[in-house]
Amino acid sequence: MANINKPSVYFLPIPAPGHLISMLEVVKSLLQWNSTTGCTFSIHILLTQPKNPGEVSPICSNYFQSLQSQNLPIHFHPLPYVEPPYQYDGVEDFVTLYIRSYLPYIKAELLASPSPVSGLVVDMFGSDVIDVAKELNIPSYIYFTSTATFLSVLLHLSNLQGKHDKLLDFSEVEEICVPGLTPIPSASMPIPLLDVQSASYKRLTYHASESCTWLTYHARRFLEAKGIIINSNIHIEMKAVEALAKGITLRAPGRIFPEVYPIGPVISFGRSNIRGYECLKWLHEKPAKSVLFLCFGNMGFDVSQVRQIAIGLEQSGHRFLWVLRTPSKDFLRGPSDANLEILPEGFIERTKERGLVWPRLAPQIDILSHQAIGGFVTHCGWNSILESLWFGVPMIPWPIHSEQHLNAFQLVNEMHVAVNLDVDINKMGFVSAMELERAIKQLMEAGSEEGRRVREQVEEVKSACRKAAQIEGVSFVHLQTLAGVLGKVRNVKPAVPGSGHN
Ligand code: UDP
Repeated sequence: MANINKPSVYFLPIPAPGHLISMLEVVKSLLQWNSTTGCTFSIHILLTQPKNPGEVSPICSNYFQSLQSQNLPIHFHPLPYVEPPYQYDGVEDFVTLYIRSYLPYIKAELLASPSPVSGLVVDMFGSDVIDVAKELNIPSYIYFTSTATFLSVLLHLSNLQGKHDKLLDFSEVEEICVPGLTPIPSASMPIPLLDVQSASYKRLTYHASESCTWLTYHARRFLEAKGIIINSNIHIEMKAVEALAKGITLRAPGRIFPEVYPIGPVISFGRSNIRGYECLKWLHEKPAKSVLFLCFGNMGFDVSQVRQIAIGLEQSGHRFLWVLRTPSKDFLRGPSDANLEILPEGFIERTKERGLVWPRLAPQIDILSHQAIGGFVTHCGWNSILESLWFGVPMIPWPIHSEQHLNAFQLVNEMHVAVNLDVDINKMGFVSAMELERAIKQLMEAGSEEGRRVREQVEEVKSACRKAAQIEGVSFVHLQTLAGVLGKVRNVKPAVPGSGHN
C-alpha cells in the first residue's frame, strides 16, 4: 500500500528497452536516495500494456523479472490495453501516437493517487502528457534518455522552426551550428530529422512554410516542463551540458528554461539473467584486451552486410565475439535469433580458434566488463556507449538510425574514444569488409598510434564517469537535487470528490 503521508511521484516510461530500463534505473537510484534520507516520496510507475507478453522485447521481460524479484517499494500501475496505432511512419510516430491514446487513462491514475502528486516524470517521446500534468497542476519532468548534444540540437532546431526554414534543410548546408557546441556536419544529423518525405513529417506540418518532425515537436514541448533529466554529465559532454545549464543553447530573451539534471551515466548493471554463460566462459580463456566485441542493440543486418562483416573479421586476424541477430519488422520486440547458415561457407570453421558468433541476445554488460574485451563495434545506441565508457572499452562506431550518427560524430571528434568507420549513409549504413578490417586494425593493433590515443582517452572518461557517480560526484549531486524537488508538493490541486484523492 502507498503511504498516504508521503507525496507520490509518477513515472511514465515507453515500452522500448533503451528507454524503459534506463528510466527504471533512475527510479532505483531515487529509491536508494529515499532510503538513505528517510524516504521522502513514494514511487509509482505507469505501465502501458502489450496485447500479449510475446510482443515485449526479451530484454524488457528479463529486466522486469529481476526487478520484481527485488521486492522494491515501487507501485506499479498497469494502464488499460489500448489498440496501438496501426498506421505509422517510424518509431517516433508510433510511440507519440501510442502515448497520446493513453492520456485519459494517465489522467485517471493521477486523479486516483493515494497522496498528492508532487511530480510526473515522462519519457522524451511522451511530452503530450505535459497537458495532463498542467491540467492537474502537477510539475512535469522529461527524462531525455540520450545525449545533451542531441537535446541541444533539437531545442535549437525547434526554436528555428518557421523562422529560417532553409536551415532545416540539411542538404543545403554543410554544418549545423548550435550555440555552445562544436559545428556538426549535416551528415551526422539524427536520421528522423533528415527524412522530410516521411508521413510523420507531413503529419506535423502546421503551415506551408513550417516543417517539423516529432523530435522537434517534442523538444518545443520540453520547454513547458519543470525540468529535463539527461542521461549524461559534464565529463562526457562538456560543451553541451554547460550550454544547457547556462541557457546558451536557446538564446531567447525572457524565456524560462526548465532546470536541467545531468545525472548520467545511468546504467543497468543487474541484467546478467540474459543467458550467456558459454560466451563468457569462452572469454575467460582469452588474453586481456584481445577480443573485439560486436553487438548492434536492436539492430540486425541483411545477408549481404553479414557476409561483409564476416570477411572483414576474418581478414583482420583479430579475436572477436560477434552477436549476430536477424532484423525484425516489429521494433518493440526487437531482432530475433540468427541462422548461422547465412555466414560465408567455412567461416565458423576457419575462425573457430579466435572467434565466436553468438546468435542470441547476449549479456552485453557482462561482456563489456570482461578483461578480455579490447574494443567494441557498436551501433551507437546511447546505453551501449555509456556501458562501454563505464568499462573503458574503446569503440568503432557503426551508426544506423535515430541519433546514432550524431553519437558517432561525438565519440570520434569530441570524446576521442573511438576510431572512425566509414558508414555509407545513402546505403542504409552499409560498411564494406575492407573498411571494417581497416578500422579493426586501427583500433586493436598495438602499433597503431590512433588506437593508442583512443585507448588512453577512454580510460580517462571511464574514471571521470565513475567519479561523477560517486557520493558528491557531479551526477550524484544532480540526482540529490532532483530527489529534493520531486518530493516537494506545490500548488497541488485539491482532491476531486470520489477520485480517491486524500
Ligand atoms: N543489450 C544486451 N544484449 C544484447 C543487445 C543489447 O544486453 O544482445 C542491451 C545493451 O546492453 C543496452 C541495450 O540493450 O543496454 C541497448 O540499448 P541502446 O541504447 O544501446 O540501443 P537501442 O535500444 O537504442 O537500440
